[in-house]
Amino acid sequence: MPYKLAKFTLFSGPVKSRKTFHAVRVLNSARASGFKHNGNFLVVKHPMDDVGSPGKIGGHEAYVLEHPNGIAELITDETRAILISGISHFKKEEGIVDLVDSLVRSGRNVIGYGLNLDSEGWPYGSMADLMAISDDVKVLKAICGDGFCELPAGRSIKIDRDYEPRCVTHFSKQGGRPRHGKLMVKTGPMYVGKTTTLGDLVAEEELRQNEFMVFNYAADNRYSETGKCATHDRAEFDSIGVTNGQEVYDRVIRNPNVKTVFIDESQFIGLKDEPLKGLYMPVHNLLSEGYDIVVFGLARTYNRKRFGETSALMCLADEVEVMYGICVDCKNHPSTESQRMIHIKGKSSIPAPFEGEIEVVGGAEDLGREVFYRSVCLRDLKFDGASYGDNRYNGRFNQLE
Ligand SMILES: [Zn+2]
Ligand SMILES: [Zn+2]
Repeated sequence: MPYKLAKFTLFSGPVKSRKTFHAVRVLNSARASGFKHNGNFLVVKHPMDDVGSPGKIGGHEAYVLEHPNGIAELITDETRAILISGISHFKKEEGIVDLVDSLVRSGRNVIGYGLNLDSEGWPYGSMADLMAISDDVKVLKAICGDGFCELPAGRSIKIDRDYEPRCVTHFSKQGGRPRHGKLMVKTGPMYVGKTTTLGDLVAEEELRQNEFMVFNYAADNRYSETGKCATHDRAEFDSIGVTNGQEVYDRVIRNPNVKTVFIDESQFIGLKDEPLKGLYMPVHNLLSEGYDIVVFGLARTYNRKRFGETSALMCLADEVEVMYGICVDCKNHPSTESQRMIHIKGKSSIPAPFEGEIEVVGGAEDLGREVFYRSVCLRDLKFDGASYGDNRYNGRFNQLE
């Protein structure tokens, strides 16, 4: 299905992962297909990005701006696409996430290039928040510069005042572990077959007679007894219910023969723990112990906010897949959003208001009001009452068709 709506595409990787090279290719092909550079295609870079060539992305001119307001001021009625190099340097507090959200809602394509992780291995700057609202993610790799290693590098280390790409082995201070695990994150809204895909991968592991473990959120017992993962069409397979990532770590580490660890409903796991301590750290540590990990979960809530630690894990991942289905309303555009609906007994169903509790598991009933979810495109995502809450760029850009 061709993706006709505007979307936010995010390219993520360590230093020297050829992000500029990639951006130049995008700019070349945009120009070839009729986009006018800084006319209807705005090109921006952050001053901290690629400092060796100020005001340029390859041979292309770029506005050098360090505040999201500066970008907003350059958006005209004609602007259709915005490329932002060094997007991870823009600050969430200054509004970069609001800006991208608002631009995509207004029908404009946004393409961002940013650093995945800082030199300590944490999500870089605003990157986890940007991951949460991304519709498409490509993880770019560099080449490890440690001696003659030359393995694909997904992380950056700091040497004096410079940053250098490193593979996972040469990133960790201990170094020299025999093998490091790989992280794959599969995200997207509800009802796009994430748990079904997990079931397929589990079946594959069984066929290969590999040892693996499947974890699921303990409070998520919809359609099922605890201890099972249930897809929405009610196929089941065994899983271990947990509430935080430390439980995952403790159970896996006792099973050295396990090769692959599957984690479903990642958005809920560790939601009540300190940021990044709930699931990110345990996953990070299991990767260093050599386990491969496949994470399934929502990256954003029904009101497009960061949902648990899924989007942070997208920064750490070797591979990210943002899945989507077909919008149940227009049956035309890709469904990228989980719309929360409220059904009042004896009455019809209406969209939930923008503000609300994060954790309301589908199917929960209280006081005659039942919450459920629909998978819709961004254009058909609606809220009861004033839409889109607190975004500081609300109403700022004209809506493109
Ligand atoms: Zn290396
Ligand atoms: Zn739609």
